[in-house]
Parts: sequence; C-alpha cells; structure tokens
Amino acid sequence: MTQPSTELIHHPYTPPEGFGAPQPAVHKASTVYFKDVAAMRARDWRSKAGYTYGLHGTPTSFLLEERLATLEGGTQCLLVPSGLAAIALVGFALLKRGDEVLIPDNAYGPNKALATGELANFGITHRLYDAMDPQDLAAKLSERTKLVWLEAPGSVTMEFPDLPALVAACKARGVVTALDNTWGAGLAFGPFADAGVDISVHALTKYPSGGGDVLMGSVVTRDEALHLKLKLSHMRMGWGVGANDVEAVLRSLPSLPLRYAAHDRAARELARWFEDREEIVQVLHPALEDSPGHAHWGALCGEQGLAAGLFSVVFDARFGTEAVDRFCDSLHLFKLGYSWGGPVSLVVPYDIGLMRDPAVSRWPHKGTLVRFSVGLEDVNDLRADLAQALERVHAVEG
Ligand SMILES: *Cc1c(COP(=O)(O)O)cnc(C)c1O
Repeated sequence: MTQPSTELIHHPYTPPEGFGAPQPAVHKASTVYFKDVAAMRARDWRSKAGYTYGLHGTPTSFLLEERLATLEGGTQCLLVPSGLAAIALVGFALLKRGDEVLIPDNAYGPNKALATGELANFGITHRLYDAMDPQDLAAKLSERTKLVWLEAPGSVTMEFPDLPALVAACKARGVVTALDNTWGAGLAFGPFADAGVDISVHALTKYPSGGGDVLMGSVVTRDEALHLKLKLSHMRMGWGVGANDVEAVLRSLPSLPLRYAAHDRAARELARWFEDREEIVQVLHPALEDSPGHAHWGALCGEQGLAAGLFSVVFDARFGTEAVDRFCDSLHLFKLGYSWGGPVSLVVPYDIGLMRDPAVSRWPHKGTLVRFSVGLEDVNDLRADLAQALERVHAVEG
C-alpha cells in the first residue's frame, strides 16, 4: 500500500490523448448530450460509467469523489454543497416519520439544530447521548433508532470517545452509524478500517479545501446499497456542487497530508505551551495526556499518531467574559472567525454551558473556553501573539 500522500498525487486519471499534466481537466455542464434516444433511455442513474445531467455528476466531480473515497478507505462518495449539507443528506436519506436519531451531546452544533428543526417537523425524534459513555449510548438505542451520529473528538470541547466501543454497541443492534470525520480528515485514522463506521461525512470546507474559500461536503460509504439510498436522496434534493469549487479541492488535495501534519505540529506545540500557563485550568487536545479521551485517541490513531490542528483552552474562572474577550480581541495573527483548516489561524470563545444538556453530559468547568484553529503561520510568531494577548487578561482581573 502506498501512503495517502503518494496515493492522492498518483490517483488514476485518464487525460485526453497527448495531454498528460499535473492537474485534471475541469468539465462544466448542466446539459449533457446523448448520442441517440436509445442511449438516453438506457442511461442508468446508478452507474458512473456515463453521464445524465450536470447536477448528477461530471467527469470532474466523479474524479474528486473517487479520490475522497480512496482517502477515507471507502468505495463510493457523494459531493454536496457544504459539510452541513452532508449531515442533512444522511438524515434525510435514512430517516422517516417515527424514527429516532441519536446524536452526541458534544456534537457539531448545527447537527443538533437540524434535529430540533427540520427532523422534528418531519416527525423524526432525536436523543442526545454522552459520547464518553458507551453504556449511555447502548441504553438509549431502541427499536426506533435508525441512525447514530459519531464525532471524534467532540466539536469544540475535544473529548475523544471510544469510537470502536460506540460502533460495536450500534452494530449489536443493527443500527447504521455515521461519523462526522472532519477532524480526522481520512488521515488520523481510517473511518471504515479502524473505526468500523458505515458512513463517513467530511466537511471538505476545512482541510481538503485548505484555503478558507470553498464550501463543500462529502458522504463516503463502502456499502453499495447504503450508497444508492443516499444517492437517490441526493438526486431528489438537487444538491449540486460547482465545477470551480471541485477544481479548487482537487488542486488542494495533494498537499493535504503535508498541511495536516504541519497544522498538527504547530497546534501541539502551542497547546503544550498553554499547559504551563497559570491563567489556564485545562488544555483540550486529544494528544495531550491530561485531555479527556487521550487513551482512546492513542488506541485509534496510535500513540505517535496524527491529530488535527485544533485545540481549546479553559480559562480559570477568575477571568470573566470581559477578560477573555479582551484576550481574543488582542490577538493579531489569530483572527476571530468560524471554520478551520485554512492557512490563517482562528480563535473563537464559546459558552459551553449553553451548548450542553446537563442531564446528558456534565461540563465540569466554570471558566470560558476558547477554541483555536492553528493555521500555517510560523509557530514562534503564533506563540508570541498568544503570549502578548494573554498578558492583557490581567488588566481587567477581579
Ligand atoms: C465545519 C464543520 C461542519 C460543517 O461544514 P460546513 O461546510 O461549514 O457546512 C461539520 N462538521 C464539523 C465537525 C465541522 O467542523
């Protein structure tokens, strides 16, 4: 087996005769011509051997789908206009009135919002479970449970769950599992080979795009029947992606492993630096020994394994909102903004108390949490920026 970095660069593509080049062609179309009526009638929506309509795939979008399926160790992939659309597609394709979906309490927030909004309107219920407690998940699985969401680590709070144990509980009941694999990006661990999930959803907006300028999502599977179910919903909902955006992701993909490793290195260095700061009571990064679920990360990704360039810190409760806001506002290189995976480092303060259901999973900290997405700037410059901003919290102490 070649490594992902090699695989992403040497993935098969057949260029026009005599025009082999580093980048594939970009095909754009809504209308696609058929050579005769018989060919039009014979066109099978399930097959990637032909084309029907731009919305249903082009040579360019099929190529990105194949490369992403390879990256994640799946066999089939569907592209959608955003990571959130990928989450929605899974729900709409697999759930119907009367069904229930289980979502981790520390999941990506909009996943829960979709459940309380559209899914509830369609007569689909949801329950939240404690991602760090496989028994809690097992106890909440019922006859009505048709889908379980997984995320490793939890969005923002970074606890790394025992993914294989959660998957095993679902498999024992024959329930479909869908992993939001945006953090792992197909590099930190294999969603199918290592974690054993049925569906891997990926916000390509993050590391695969790598530029902070593209929105796209993918849904990868390795079960043909499951893929066709998702593909049928995908066609009915009309979720197409633009060829220029597909091109941007195709162009960024070969550098994904290098970028991911660089984000990882810098984030770990900065996370460790925060561990020695008295203003901070907890640093949340799965590769750090004191971070919740560190052992699960080590078991799945390897003790010398990879992690995304994300981490959070919890300020001592003596620093109020005003002080922590002052810290965030004082940063120059870290910009205030959502999302991650691009070259520019980002920072967001969160009020975790408002994001959790205390009846499901207890958030132990009183102080404000700040999440960092580490970009590709020089790590010494980033550390200096953090250090100068951290001095500013003391100005409003007390
Ligand atoms: C960003 C993100 C998404 C959604 O991606 P968009 O393209 O912004 O819709 C989903 N899950 C996780 C974990 C994310 O970080």
